[in-house]
Amino acid sequence: MAITVKNPIVEMDGDEMTRIIWKMIKDKLLLPHLAMDLRYYDLGIKHRDETDDKVTMDAAQAVKEYGVGVKCATITPNAGRVKEYNLKQAWKSPNGTIRSLLDGTVFRKPIIVKNIPPAVRSWKKPISIGRHAYGDIYKSVEYRVPGAGKAELVFTSADNGERVSLVVHDFTGPGVVMGIHNTEKSIRSFARACINYALGEKSELWFGAKDTISKTYHGLFKEVFDQEAAARSVDFAKAGVRYRYMLIDDAVAQIMKAEGGMLWACMNYDGDVMSDMVASGFGSLGLMTSVLVSPESKYVYEAAHGTVMRHYYEHLKGNPTSTNSVASIFAWTGAIARRGELDGTPDVVSFAKRLEAAVINVIEDGVMTKDLASIAEPSPAKFALTGEFIDIVAKKL
Ligand code: NAP
Ligand code: MG
Repeated sequence: MAITVKNPIVEMDGDEMTRIIWKMIKDKLLLPHLAMDLRYYDLGIKHRDETDDKVTMDAAQAVKEYGVGVKCATITPNAGRVKEYNLKQAWKSPNGTIRSLLDGTVFRKPIIVKNIPPAVRSWKKPISIGRHAYGDIYKSVEYRVPGAGKAELVFTSADNGERVSLVVHDFTGPGVVMGIHNTEKSIRSFARACINYALGEKSELWFGAKDTISKTYHGLFKEVFDQEAAARSVDFAKAGVRYRYMLIDDAVAQIMKAEGGMLWACMNYDGDVMSDMVASGFGSLGLMTSVLVSPESKYVYEAAHGTVMRHYYEHLKGNPTSTNSVASIFAWTGAIARRGELDGTPDVVSFAKRLEAAVINVIEDGVMTKDLASIAEPSPAKFALTGEFIDIVAKKL
């Protein structure tokens, strides 16, 4: 008998190879076991184009309403894609649209399997990374200083027109200068999203910045994190986890010696760099999950990778593919487990956990797609094709 999922899950379909995998996952792993009320939004590039991208906004709105969504990877069109799919225009990144509507933060977490050893020996549990996705050098103004002159930072108050001016540097020759900013609102949203995620996962929360050097800019980040963590101290105690502030270089050093299991909240640039380090340290993009969490605790789960275009083109030519479906499966299990937790339906949560265990067992039994076969120890004699892998997981389940 199917397990009933009480409240709706917002489903966002996507593009190319991941769209093909998406259907297999639903048909073979989910629908035979679960009675779900899926609110379906087709974010495939053609449908986004037909609806002038309204469908993306509608999907984000539905996540706001129901609280839990699961998203397939989607094409972010560039000039080449506009031509390829004959689009009206190069629509914005759906992830960007959804993120800004929900004011969310993206967390990435690797899936750990025993036979794919992490590059760092001490890493035993996943390290999640939360990247602040607003401001700093990603919204900067830069100027290449041609020669001697004075660079100043000027702020004019909207309230009373008062001007504050600081000298950045008195140049005696050519150089370069940059202005960056952030907003207290965005930092606070980020801190709250990180706290919600850490408490949800019952993991320690680390935040690192350089407030010894940047007492005001980085100092504000530290101040906001400290305040927000203090406001939730009861919840931290209840979850049995703690919040730790470290200087960023200390955090980096400690990560390399840690077991894992923490959420590492990173400022924008640190998150950009460190998420790639952590992803490659744990093995493969195909094992990296991603979830968008809003300050109001709305969740959108997805795989961290894209639509795996190269494999899709092979598939279109009729060639066999070996595309890893694990991160997409875990996007579903993440959403289903969250739905079950919010609904208070433990059988739904335990189905998600069983499916995750089935996937991990299959890989640990030596059945895996090509991307993993090359890094597994021992390396399997042959790799599984896209559909084969999902069929074997279905059997295990
Ligand atoms: P990609 O889809 O992440 O794939 C890049 C390469 O990584 C693949 O060609 C493949 O390497 C490997 N790979 C990634 N995921 C894999 C998986 N599940 N199984 C096996 N190998 C995997 O990035 P892309 O090809 O640069 O981008 C394609 C499209 O995805 C773009 O239109 C982009 O806009 C979109 N995108 C969407 C999202 C999102 O929706 N969240 C994120 C990123 C990119 P090999 O070819 O060597 O096998
Ligand atoms: Mg990066």
